[in-house]
Amino acid sequence: MPEGDTVWRAARELNAALAGRTLTRCDIRVPRFATVDLTGETVQDVVARGKHLLIRVGGDDGWIVHSHLLMEGIWHIYATGAKWRRPAFKARCILATSDATAVGFELGFLKILPRSAEEEAVGYLGPDLLGPGWDPEEALRRLLSQPDRPIGLALLDQRNLAGIGNVYRCELCFLAGVHPLTPVAGVRDLPRMVALAKKLLEANKARSTRTTTGNLRGDTLWVYGREHRGCLRCGTRVTLEQLGDNELELRDLYYCPYCQPASPAPAE
Ligand SMILES: [Zn+2]
Repeated sequence: MPEGDTVWRAARELNAALAGRTLTRCDIRVPRFATVDLTGETVQDVVARGKHLLIRVGGDDGWIVHSHLLMEGIWHIYATGAKWRRPAFKARCILATSDATAVGFELGFLKILPRSAEEEAVGYLGPDLLGPGWDPEEALRRLLSQPDRPIGLALLDQRNLAGIGNVYRCELCFLAGVHPLTPVAGVRDLPRMVALAKKLLEANKARSTRTTTGNLRGDTLWVYGREHRGCLRCGTRVTLEQLGDNELELRDLYYCPYCQPASPAPAE
């Protein structure tokens, strides 16, 4: 599942392939932007903002190819003329230079925006765990601005801090020994949890295997996806529930009821 580390890596690879090059082909397969043609324009750079990917094309009056991978999206880079590893009908965006072709498959969304709209598009995001301006104090301030919100939801909210997806939110709660429904204000050492988020994403950003256990093979995660195998630490059956702010945003939530006990109700 794409999270901040996946998107950071995709941005790095796309930047290496496209930055400074002139586009020889631009094929946007999203109805709203199907007539956009950036052929002849030069790609300035490609950056990740949390889980958003921005391909900046042209100068300050140019364009941004703004995509989000959501659940299934992926960018591939091919040498010119090479066979694609996914079916063409799943391609949403094709950008080619004389040497390479970048293809975005099954993108969660794809928009073409004027450069001036960048702030509007991603400015609402909280501090970016893998961005140049990472600010843990600001992330904490934003998390604590809704003290009663369950930590399992607050960590996923990209306005608080950008880059955490479902795998990391489950694993971070486990590593902190915190039940995901614990209110933010009730998390014992929130600064440590935020620091750990940064550490995990940094450790995983340059490799294709995501691990929170330190193992690169076999058991790479403590609780996520382990509903049939049990908690990696204690073997207790991992609980799988759905959690979201509303019925449309429900996401799988994994936790160990033994390692992550619900906090006792406050005394009346
Ligand atoms: Zn456990």
